[in-house]
Amino acid sequence: MTSSFSNLSLAEPLARAVAEMGYESMTPIQEQAIPVVLTGQDVMGAAQTGTGKTAAFSLPLLQRLLKHENSSTSPARHPVRALVLLPTRELADQVAQQIALYAKHTKLRSTVVFGGMDMKPQTLELKKGVEVLVATPGRLLDHIEAKNAVLNQVEYVVLDEADRMLDIGFLPDLQRILSYLPKQRTTLLFSATFSPEIKRLAGSYLQNPITIEVARPNETASTVEQRFYSANDDDKRRAIHQVLKTRGIKQAFIFVNSKLGCARLARSLEREGLKTAALHGDKSQDERLKALEAFKKGEVDLLVCTDVAARGLDIKDVPAVFNFDVPFNAEDYVHRIGRTGRAGASGLAVTLVSGSDARLVADIEKLIKKKIDLEAVEYDEDQPRGRINDGRRAWREAGETGDGRDAFGTSGPRRERDRDHRSGRESREPREPQHRGFRPAAISRDPFFEKPYEASAASDAAPAWEAAKAVPRSSISANIKPKRKVAALFKAAAQPETSAQ
Ligand code: AMP
Repeated sequence: MTSSFSNLSLAEPLARAVAEMGYESMTPIQEQAIPVVLTGQDVMGAAQTGTGKTAAFSLPLLQRLLKHENSSTSPARHPVRALVLLPTRELADQVAQQIALYAKHTKLRSTVVFGGMDMKPQTLELKKGVEVLVATPGRLLDHIEAKNAVLNQVEYVVLDEADRMLDIGFLPDLQRILSYLPKQRTTLLFSATFSPEIKRLAGSYLQNPITIEVARPNETASTVEQRFYSANDDDKRRAIHQVLKTRGIKQAFIFVNSKLGCARLARSLEREGLKTAALHGDKSQDERLKALEAFKKGEVDLLVCTDVAARGLDIKDVPAVFNFDVPFNAEDYVHRIGRTGRAGASGLAVTLVSGSDARLVADIEKLIKKKIDLEAVEYDEDQPRGRINDGRRAWREAGETGDGRDAFGTSGPRRERDRDHRSGRESREPREPQHRGFRPAAISRDPFFEKPYEASAASDAAPAWEAAKAVPRSSISANIKPKRKVAALFKAAAQPETSAQ
């Protein structure tokens, strides 16, 4: 049972902003965290992106900051009162945009600073004075060192996605940042897991925190239809074309394990007539935001991305997610497929499994506690192998599949390294934390990612995962062969594919 925001007696400007967002009821993390944060207590929250966590900490935080609200133009009247730290640029940007929306009817100012962007515009914003500062640790330290950011009046600090920050190796940066803050403050820590490291961090920096845990770990949403197809590396693009066509899918995320593989796959799919953008750690922040914007507007069909680049992005209702590479970490699988089937919508998650992926698939099976059956894609007869679909003859427009197959390897380094564009700082791609079960009941309106998709005919008709179980297999798709046991298919997948024709 979720309750309404009206039970909270939020100040009118905040309540109005929430109403404009179209939120009908509180999410579980909001229900539990908002009243606690309103009392000023420290919180240790287990919650993931996608649970409504940002509003859970920012609404009460803004409410408590309202006493400082003023319209003075003097920067001195707008010191940083709340600091929100996040591990990646995209997450920082996303959270900052949400906070700006919640605060839009107040006089409280907010801004965001992250690496990979010119420091000057950020400096100008900071110098004007902001009450709420959202930041990635590296860039914040740059601003602190340059005396652009003064943190001695911070009353609230939020360590968001704390496990990822530790994974990336931000602990020393966090310790330095926290040393600049007043001891008397409220600290909120959100993490997907309460690992021993997180508990140690909390033990050092939180005072008698209230623990809030809202979801069970490793749960995949029941609205996501999960399919595992056997495909050699050479056949994977072809399989994508086939599934897109068969299921009438108009937009999808495609996950790969390496930056190199990401760029190559995006180029190949583009050549084959699909509008494609790549999102990986070597792309500038500007390029990443442009790619996202294009995807959101429907100008791009496929967003090919690495885990690190896509981390936490709140793009809702993606009709399908493809794992072009089986992720190295099973947790990444859960997180990747959490991009589809969000907010109660149905979604399709397709994982393309080659002969060498047996161990990785077994890890996923263990984590999600579901038996994985490997299937074979049955390709259309009129789509001979090796035919490259030219230019704009996209399946999207012409209703036919592009079919290309030129062999390329997709294997990359086991870990992509993502450079935080700050004086050579390099950070390891963090482990993706686990996707949590809760999905907001109502599809919310997030202006940054508004209306990215047109509902596909298939998603209108088929309630995906659950429905697929309920109907005869033949009525799902003529192109899907009956399931075979994983072990048998791994043996088959190790051989050249012959049956797919
Ligand atoms: P977050 O976990 O904070 O990244 O939020 C995920 C998405 O859920 C964002 O797009 C929010 O706008 C949306 N959201 C947050 N709270 C609610 C709510 N109470 N009802 C519906 N959507 C929400």
